[in-house]
Amino acid sequence: MPFRFDNTYARLPERFYSRLDPTPVAQPRLIEVNEALAAQIAAAPEALTSKVGVEILAGNRIPEGAEPLAMIYAGHQFGNWVPRLGDGRAILLGEVIGVDGVRRDIQLKGSGPTPYSRNGDGRAALGPILREYMVSEAMNVLGVPTTRSLAAVATGETILRQEGPLPGAILTRISLSHLRVGTFEYFGNHGDVEGVRLLADYAIQRLYSEARIAKEPYCAFLDGVIARTAALIARWQLIGFIHGVMNTDNVSIAGETIDYGPCAFMDTYDPQTVFSSIDRGGRYAYINQPRIAHWNLVRLAQALLPLLGEREDQAIKAAQASIDAYPKLFEQNYFAGLRAKVGFEAKEEGDLQIVGELFRHMHDGRADFTLTFRRLCDSAETDTADTALGALFDNDAALKVWLVKWRERLGRETVSPDERAARMRRVNPRYIPRNHRIEAAITAAQERGDFAPFRELNRVLAKPFEEQPEYTAYAEPPKPDEVVQQTFCGT
Ligand code: AMP
Ligand code: MG
Repeated sequence: MPFRFDNTYARLPERFYSRLDPTPVAQPRLIEVNEALAAQIAAAPEALTSKVGVEILAGNRIPEGAEPLAMIYAGHQFGNWVPRLGDGRAILLGEVIGVDGVRRDIQLKGSGPTPYSRNGDGRAALGPILREYMVSEAMNVLGVPTTRSLAAVATGETILRQEGPLPGAILTRISLSHLRVGTFEYFGNHGDVEGVRLLADYAIQRLYSEARIAKEPYCAFLDGVIARTAALIARWQLIGFIHGVMNTDNVSIAGETIDYGPCAFMDTYDPQTVFSSIDRGGRYAYINQPRIAHWNLVRLAQALLPLLGEREDQAIKAAQASIDAYPKLFEQNYFAGLRAKVGFEAKEEGDLQIVGELFRHMHDGRADFTLTFRRLCDSAETDTADTALGALFDNDAALKVWLVKWRERLGRETVSPDERAARMRRVNPRYIPRNHRIEAAITAAQERGDFAPFRELNRVLAKPFEEQPEYTAYAEPPKPDEVVQQTFCGT
């Protein structure tokens, strides 16, 4: 058996989930197994790639020790309250303890209908599964907390979506926990204070053990989630990642990026960028992500309110204090990241203004977000690199003026130009999961059964900060006819 299960969520009361098995699929076929991740969670890769292993990854066989269940939750979708959502197409097999001693969930996504499927078929299309696999693994090596992808299998079944009939697939998703803000909202909004308390105790035990010894453990827990979320969203902003559907049911209590749907990385810098075809109002545009996260955290605080103080006024005061800390926490993370991106180590008064000006020039010049910062690393080493940097801008006149100012500021640093460039290259990736590359990999797999582009892209994305001269084309932004305007949930 590939996994040694040690389950805790299944010990919670029955109202927290529905027990059920995945629905078997016609013809499971392995697409990919993540061997490095398998080793980390103490799963033997051979046990996953064997016939029995693939049956397990497809939901056709229940491994020993698994206690399959669909978790219940609620959520705010695009700001609107939905009292009951839950895993509509995912099943938690159980938990394992990794070689690092960390407990993780093993979940199958696309494994068939559950009591929470509403009108959905419980399945996932190949395209979104490949997208999640590629992007989540890329995020991980980019240093962003995220759920991971252990495996992808094709189901051999066809599912119907708006775009037409599509091949189905199942992802094995690994997370520190699949608890969401929406899990707390479910119990909170149903007036089930005992449920909220059990859930909070569970989360503290599993994810925020430091809160246990705090004077007010539940306040400390809320503070912990707020701190991790602030750090997470700062990471997103610093690499140009757009989640696409930041509903509260897609916000992890563990502070991980979760539920990759119509997500994408920004090419040309534009703060208003939106990819999701269902986000017509631009609620989840790049620039809005930090304050949407704040809004989502208020929903968590609200659900936790009965635990935050003996009297309501005390509880509200405590919640308010925690929530009010978020903007500062976000800024600390974000500003520190920005400074590193442009090579500022010492702190000076006008630093952020200088960075702000660069962003303005990038916007005006329609420059590529990722390549601007990557080529700035070269310019940190020698000004002969300025031409290549300037070529990213429609007009580089303003940039040239900015570069003078930037170098003047760098002149007051003590680090050598070589060392500065090296450090900058460790935070400014050369390779990101570009949307047009993702789409090309998906199209090849979907239309021709060709997974080579998917594998090659994964290989490139595994070393985002290295030069990889044989793969320079993957660093390039899309040509005008390659630009992907929208991404679909595929749900
Ligand atoms: P999402 O915004 O994609 O995370 O999904 C929101 C809700 O819809 C969750 O409760 C999902 O489990 C559910 N859902 C999404 N797609 C399907 C599907 N194909 N079948 C059943 N439920 C689904
Ligand atoms: Mg979701």
